[in-house]
Amino acid sequence: MVPKIKKVAVIGTGTLGTQIAVHSSYHGYEVSAYDPDERSFQRTLEMIRLRITNSNRKPTIPLKEIQRQARKIRLARTIEEAVRGADLVIEAIPENLSLKRRIFKQIDIYAPKNALLATNSSSIPISKIEKATKRPEKCLNLHFYSLDLGRNIVDVMGGTKTPRRIIEAGKEWVRSIGCVPLTVKKELLGFCFNRVWRAVKRETLHMWAGGYVDFKDLDRGWMIWTGMSQGPFGIMDAVGLDVVYGIEMVYYNESKSPKDRPPRALKAMVERKQLGVKTGKGFYTYPNPEFKNPNFLKA
Ligand code: NAD
Repeated sequence: MVPKIKKVAVIGTGTLGTQIAVHSSYHGYEVSAYDPDERSFQRTLEMIRLRITNSNRKPTIPLKEIQRQARKIRLARTIEEAVRGADLVIEAIPENLSLKRRIFKQIDIYAPKNALLATNSSSIPISKIEKATKRPEKCLNLHFYSLDLGRNIVDVMGGTKTPRRIIEAGKEWVRSIGCVPLTVKKELLGFCFNRVWRAVKRETLHMWAGGYVDFKDLDRGWMIWTGMSQGPFGIMDAVGLDVVYGIEMVYYNESKSPKDRPPRALKAMVERKQLGVKTGKGFYTYPNPEFKNPNFLKA
């Protein structure tokens, strides 16, 4: 049976979980959320505010609505409490397969039997997580992008047992929160648009780390070519360099190809906690990164 989705539970209230929770609430869903770090939700809301004010992109919903909806979200103290009565549970915890499996197992124990279970993972196919549950036919990937910067697309992909009706239910829900579903017809590492973006990341990171090109020139070229307000390095800073590194490692562990190994220089930045916007320093320094300066594109 496909449940009618009324209540959404989000596990992990970092960069993406907070955005998914707020958008679901804005579009009329009852939302609860859980994060072991009690300060994560407020900290992320502040970071989202900064990201929106630092960008010339239009957020998917207005900033004041983000703050208003945030007050309606029920912050639970446990996973059990968060998923109680949920029709859809979306996991948005760090990009770590064993952690995701452990959390899916707990979600499966406490969520209603008919609830759909989705992962927002940027690189792990649900087929690698579904076995942690007793309902692989209700599991799917729903991969969001930065809604706060107007990127309202969601990659949708099933696992080994997900029937079409569950994929359709996922797509319908995605549309109901003002997003555009991009369907992956058979399993592909990196999903749909995310794989295109990943190719850009891999190339630009190696060009920078190999000492071939300054990352600012790569961003300048990209910004002039696409008309975007950020280049790949500015975008990676917004995503979080720890998240970027984790995603690159998933591709590397899959292929074992040296071409896929993330550069050591990126790992060193993560170890120094230069994680991008969320720690105030990554490739650029925040809240006033150099690429915001009108002279940045004048060479
Ligand atoms: P983040 O580091 O900003 O947030 C992760 C949150 O998970 C933190 O608040 C952390 O406290 C919490 N957490 C850690 N362990 C937990 C647990 N056991 N239970 C519940 N919460 C726990 O990470 P993020 O950028 O939001 O990424 C989360 C997921 O979304 C990852 O799988 C990532 O690949 C994916 N994703 C990220 C982006 C992006 O732009 N950052 C885009 C699409 C998808």
